[in-house]
Amino acid sequence: MLDIRSSIATPAAKAQPIRRADYRPPDWLVPELALDFELGAGETRVTGSLSAVRSGAHDRPLRLDRDGIVPDSVRIDGVEADWSQLDDAIEVTLPGDAHSIEIAVTLHPDRNTQLMGLYASGGLLCTQCEAQGFRRILPFPDRPDVLTRYRVRMTADSTRYPVLLANGDPVGSGDAGDGRHWAEWDDPFPKPSYLFALVAGDLVANTGSFTTMSGREVQLGIWVRESDLAKTDHALSALKTAMAWDEKVYGREYDLDVFNIVAVDDFNFGAMENKGLNIFNSRYILADPDTATDYDYDAVAAVVAHEYFHNWSGNRVTCRDWFQLSLKEGFTVFRDQQFSADQGSPAVKRIEDVRGLRAAQFPEDAGPLAHPVRPDEYLEISNFYTATIYNKGAEVIRMMHTMLGEAAFRAGSDLYFDRHDGTAATVEDFACAMEDASGADLTQFRLWYSQAGTPRVSAQLSHAPGDGRARIALRQLVPPTPGQPDKAPMLLPLRIKLFGSETGKPLGEERLVLLGDTSADIAFDGVAETPVLSINRGFSAPVILDTNRTAADLAFLSAHDDDPFARYEAMQQLMLDTLVTAVTHGRADHDAVIAAVARTLASPDLDKAFVGEAVLLPSESFIGDQLSVVDPDAVFRAREALRRDLATRLGEQWRDAYDGAAANRFEYTPAAKGLRRLRNVALGYLAASGAPDAADLAFAQFEGADNMTDRHGALATLVNGTSDKRIAALDIFYNRYRDNPLVLDKWFSVQALSARDDAVDQVEELAKHRDFTLANPNRARALVGMFSVNQRAFHHPSGRGYRFVADQLLALDKLNPQTAAKLVPPLGRWKRFDDDRAAMMRGELERIVASAGLSKDMLEQAGKSLD
Ligand code: ZN
Repeated sequence: MLDIRSSIATPAAKAQPIRRADYRPPDWLVPELALDFELGAGETRVTGSLSAVRSGAHDRPLRLDRDGIVPDSVRIDGVEADWSQLDDAIEVTLPGDAHSIEIAVTLHPDRNTQLMGLYASGGLLCTQCEAQGFRRILPFPDRPDVLTRYRVRMTADSTRYPVLLANGDPVGSGDAGDGRHWAEWDDPFPKPSYLFALVAGDLVANTGSFTTMSGREVQLGIWVRESDLAKTDHALSALKTAMAWDEKVYGREYDLDVFNIVAVDDFNFGAMENKGLNIFNSRYILADPDTATDYDYDAVAAVVAHEYFHNWSGNRVTCRDWFQLSLKEGFTVFRDQQFSADQGSPAVKRIEDVRGLRAAQFPEDAGPLAHPVRPDEYLEISNFYTATIYNKGAEVIRMMHTMLGEAAFRAGSDLYFDRHDGTAATVEDFACAMEDASGADLTQFRLWYSQAGTPRVSAQLSHAPGDGRARIALRQLVPPTPGQPDKAPMLLPLRIKLFGSETGKPLGEERLVLLGDTSADIAFDGVAETPVLSINRGFSAPVILDTNRTAADLAFLSAHDDDPFARYEAMQQLMLDTLVTAVTHGRADHDAVIAAVARTLASPDLDKAFVGEAVLLPSESFIGDQLSVVDPDAVFRAREALRRDLATRLGEQWRDAYDGAAANRFEYTPAAKGLRRLRNVALGYLAASGAPDAADLAFAQFEGADNMTDRHGALATLVNGTSDKRIAALDIFYNRYRDNPLVLDKWFSVQALSARDDAVDQVEELAKHRDFTLANPNRARALVGMFSVNQRAFHHPSGRGYRFVADQLLALDKLNPQTAAKLVPPLGRWKRFDDDRAAMMRGELERIVASAGLSKDMLEQAGKSLD
């Protein structure tokens, strides 16, 4: 093995981390900025006129951040001025306390492959500024605590760019001669530069209007290419629902006369909450039954709501610095989760969110990239748009909601918005508002913001039949994480209830236990029959739980718990215990799982969507997470064996579930979605049972489907199997959707996730396909990102999976470092695997780190992953 220390010494030494402790308020404020854009894809000329006002007594120069741009000119108070040019900024010395500065810059949007700043996508010109893209448009104090009032004028070719949009409200437009036109927008709300946006293009809008609670009418527009217009109704109706919901649940009203959303095909993230002009990855806007799955429909609504909710949690109150990122993201994710729960089944929503947390955040918290919800330092901020900041951050807010209760939480939220409206706030400000409104003391709870790592909780139930007393011995341990070897105990809200094992009835009310010490004993009195422990109900704390519950206890809870989420958890734990036994001992008794699944399938009053989730086996990676050393092949075999056993022994029940859910016409309702979900799960089991007609059933479903959920589900079943219908279905699907990039992404990802032995060969071939490109982030993620979470294929014993991903990441880093760096974590999990695999994974990380011209993004992610 190479010595990595020498190879990373040089670049790592150059990159200086930014530290939270070094925060200093800005030296200069910029209350006003007028921007003038002469737009063109090849060349855009920008002139920014800003007012700079000295803040406090100091004699430091005005520092304007820049990334890859050099001003054509700088004028101070109308006079051409000198500036000094640093690597990442220019500095101007200003004699007085207030000056007007005019800076001119020339940009080349069509060469901007990073998709940060002003770039071209399809025929459009659009911007992306969070976190630090504005400095690629204009030298500026590009930090979230500098709040500025923006006025934007755009001039562009009338044919290519008939629509010109920016933040705020439109204030004027007209002809500019020479086949050009202009438009002006004004945003009355001071905002940080990361919320600036403009879009120019040949777009049409699905329009609507919304009347706010105080009776103001807001014009809504979802802007897309004309050919996509028919796919925007769902997004528009989700937007209206979200606007009404935020008024009702949080008392938050929209504040401009217009609210626009634009869909673009090339986008690094999901979507962006620019004030009054949200810009979306088209995958989170476009939906119709033929091209979007139910999952896509749900995601569109959730992301539309999320970005809309940012208008208050993010825009009206923004972040003081990027270490506070979870202040807006954790809170806003929590808000969008609540919103989605209110639209359909809260239990199924919670199941999906917890599954996502375990798939993405728990591994992050257990690996080399673990960081607190409020990090202490970073090299590259775009690497910190993580599951920890977003999803664990949302769990932290959820715990406050659980502990304070609905009413006090709402009072805290009101106080937070009141106090900090129009300012840049901190996580600490949020906690203080919650405390002040509720009287709660969150001192210890704040550790959730500063300590990384998923707490482990042990709960051992004992029962003395004689005195009717049950005891739960609780212990917690917060594991060490990089830079944090020793941890203090955290405050963990645990919702607990006991059930009688004979009657199946609850033994008393649910209790909310706040575990704040390393260990505690909880007593329940009047427990007349043998109790079964239901704990961490609703996943009230994001912890890893270890209990002394037997397979029989878990099976019991999966049938009798009165909280559907807890029923699901009991089933998952039972499956997980069985699979871990199978992997570590080579075999396991499947009977308890099979009986529990049979009972769930046979419960007529359960929601079908819930049943579909409850009977699914845990993912291969989640099983791997339970093992000290992961053998991906053994995990795969154990899981397949249980799947086959479940499939064959419950053959008739799967058949009934499949037939009973036979599709009618497409409807986007919770009931219809549930039926489709269960039907696809049942189809998977029918195929696993080896039923001779399974491939025909799948193919018939594939061909007869009137919606993408059914078609895609059938395709996935065929792609995982050995039937020759697999190739036919893939070809039909490709030819039908070859002109639809979002559906073509599904064609790539369904193959990247294949459970077949030859998945690596397929994926290597697909990377050479004419429709594969790293220039589009969705496409790169559909193939490379999806493949790297296909546990068995990625960890192919030959190491080919690792090499493939590393090759792709190196190529992608040249185009788009942000998107490349996001795909590093699967390689960084080498410590979890056997020595051979670990050495190969490290080898690829070393190769990445040693590559010439590596981005700061990749250097941080790959470098840290070697530790
Ligand atoms: Zn967000």
